[in-house]
Amino acid sequence: MTDLVVLGATGSIGTQTLEVAKRLDCTVRAIAARSPSPALRALAAEWPDAVIVVAEPAAGSEDVLAGTGNELLVGPEAVVAVAGEGGAVVVNGIVGSAGLAASVAALDAGNRLALANKESLVAGGSVVTAARDSGGGELIPVDSEHSAIWQLLVGEDPATIRRIVLTASGGPFRGLTRDALTVVTPEEALEHPTWSMGRRITIDSATLMNKAFEVIEAHHLFGLDYSAIDVVVHPQSVVHSLVEFVDGAVTAELGVPDMRVPIQYAITYPERVSAPVEPLSLTGLDLTFEPPDVDTFPGLALGYEAGRAGGTAPAVLNAADEVAVAAFLDGRIGFLDIPAVVARTLEEVPHTVPGTVADVLAADAAARDTARNVVAAHPRMRR
Ligand code: NAD
Ligand code: MG
Repeated sequence: MTDLVVLGATGSIGTQTLEVAKRLDCTVRAIAARSPSPALRALAAEWPDAVIVVAEPAAGSEDVLAGTGNELLVGPEAVVAVAGEGGAVVVNGIVGSAGLAASVAALDAGNRLALANKESLVAGGSVVTAARDSGGGELIPVDSEHSAIWQLLVGEDPATIRRIVLTASGGPFRGLTRDALTVVTPEEALEHPTWSMGRRITIDSATLMNKAFEVIEAHHLFGLDYSAIDVVVHPQSVVHSLVEFVDGAVTAELGVPDMRVPIQYAITYPERVSAPVEPLSLTGLDLTFEPPDVDTFPGLALGYEAGRAGGTAPAVLNAADEVAVAAFLDGRIGFLDIPAVVARTLEEVPHTVPGTVADVLAADAAARDTARNVVAAHPRMRR
């Protein structure tokens, strides 16, 4: 029976993970979320033996959990502590660079890290992979594209990969012009055509910044050069990604879009077990592929640029995007301002080579300060 630690348990990935955990009869050791909420209380009641961790306790945190009987820990250190207890599979479904320290702690402890929190690899790629290599842990992707590639590489020699192709849905604004994008609202941007996810990743899907992060994530996970990582827009989200080998063979992983599949596989790998997932019906499927429109959606090019620059540049990219997305959701900037804020911040914050989580978080903090200033100085930059 697997011991699980579920970080970001009240979110989209977290709740689906707990559904999988129940079905697989896992022991859930710990459940962590940012703040106390009725949803967290409900999880505490459902998992009475799990330690409940609240990263950012507000006054009255204990009240929300009163009467549940679960052990309660508070503070970001407690999230890191539960991730860093050995013998567990840690599913990291935290959103943002706030998930980095827990990822490193899990790998330092030799745990299996089932990683949804791509920001860990975007911001701290070299630090995370070094922790995997020195701690003896396993780093298994949950992100659907990366899980697809992981599955396609089972039994293959990584040296025989010519390139990988990440599929992108294109988001809700695929096909729109920049003019049309000047007036889109947060509500429209939050309407993702194929996946139901948290707010930040949904906005990142609309700007293609999510795919930028996934390119950097793939670079670190699979040790590939950026020239061997391509992106194709595939609006149906049925082909989850592809691998092209040196002999010209191209393999792809297909399925209905359902995150419970990659979540479960990251937990059970190398085994497969049955899941109540809608079967893929091949007849009548109309699968289309088109190149990404990088002029309209410059976020993707920014990702390659920051990835190739290396060092703390991707951490700056992510932190600036976190600030810009929050400002867009609050109505302080327009949709096209998101990549503009990120580009400006990348220009202004100097890059260094990080050796530790603290180095990454220092670059992250500097980028947030700069991005906030860019937002404040240029309200509605493109409107
Ligand atoms: P979400 O907003 O639905 O949930 C985020 C969770 O993280 C919540 O439980 C929240 O309480 C918790 N959290 C936030 N800050 C925290 C902190 N400082 N400490 C501890 N917990 C904290 O987000 P989501 O859509 O579930 O995405 C989570 C991660 O998974 C992101 O990195 C996202 O890019 C990635 N991901 C999500 C999907 C998806 O289908 N939702 C797919 C691929 C990758
Ligand atoms: Mg993805």
